[in-house]
Parts: sequence; C-alpha cells; structure tokens
Amino acid sequence: MNVSDILQSKGDRVVTVRPSETIDVLAHRLKLEGIGAMVVSQDGKTIEGIVSERDVAHGLAEHGASLQGLCVSDLMTKNVVTCSPDDSIAEVAKIMTKRRVRHIPVQLDGVLVGLVSVGDVVKQRLNEMELEANVLRDYAIARQ
Ligand code: AMP
Repeated sequence: MNVSDILQSKGDRVVTVRPSETIDVLAHRLKLEGIGAMVVSQDGKTIEGIVSERDVAHGLAEHGASLQGLCVSDLMTKNVVTCSPDDSIAEVAKIMTKRRVRHIPVQLDGVLVGLVSVGDVVKQRLNEMELEANVLRDYAIARQ
C-alpha cells in the first residue's frame, strides 16, 4: 500500500495558511477545520513550512499573551519532511516515528498534492488488518 492509496480514499485537499497570517487566525482556522496542522504556503502549491498545534502550545509557553499577534512564519517549521505518492505507508509511518511528526505533506514534482496524518496511516493499517483477517477466516471456513 502506498501514499497514493490514502489520498485516493481521503482526497487531495490540503488546508494551507499564508506565512503572514496571525496566530490568532491560525488557531481559529485549526478549530474550524478540526485539524492539527496546516501547510504554510503563499500560493497553495509551494511548501514554505508547516505549523501545528504543538507550535501554538510551545509558542504560548514562550511568548504568553503576545502570541496571538505573531505571524505564522514566526512559529512554523521551515525544514519540512515530505513524501511522494509512490512512497509506501510503512515507510511514512517509520519517518513519523523517527522524526516525531504527525503530519507529512505529499509532494509531486515540487508541488503540494496531499497530506498524510498519523490518523490516516493508522486507519489504513486497520483496514489492511481487517482485510487480512477476513481472507484468513474465509480460507479457514473453505477448508472445513
Ligand atoms: P505535529 O506532530 O504535526 O503536531 O508537529 C510537531 C512538530 O513538528 C511541530 O513543531 C511541527 O511544526 C513540526 N512538524 C510537523 N510536521 C512536520 C513535517 N512534515 N516536517 C517537519 N516538521 C514537521
């Protein structure tokens, strides 16, 4: 199973935020969309960074109440770990564990084409395990 299988079932919509947007707006948009991270991009195609709820929590600890007025570019991680649609889900899961990130943007020829979260990876793995269990059960029944 590859990253493209996940994108096929969940779609390729990626919520992005501009680097100049305030943290106040970011926090409201994260709440509205019900998501934990946004890719930072000026044009919705080129990845400039990533910002997650953890950055907001750490920012609050560091800046206190003045955090709300800061910009996304003040908190975002610039060195973004990405994957490609052809990467295996097992490989992406390994990267998430090793790098301690829960979101990996998907890039094709330098363009943002999707995002995979740890929740997507777990869901896909559960589906696979269910399928395997069903196949084994059918096999066992057929041999009776
Ligand atoms: P997350 O696990 O997504 O909440 O992110 C935890 C921390 O890693 C935050 O500082 C994020 O900005 C950063 N981060 C999240 N995803 C990535 C990624 N794909 N590449 C680099 N940093 C990331």
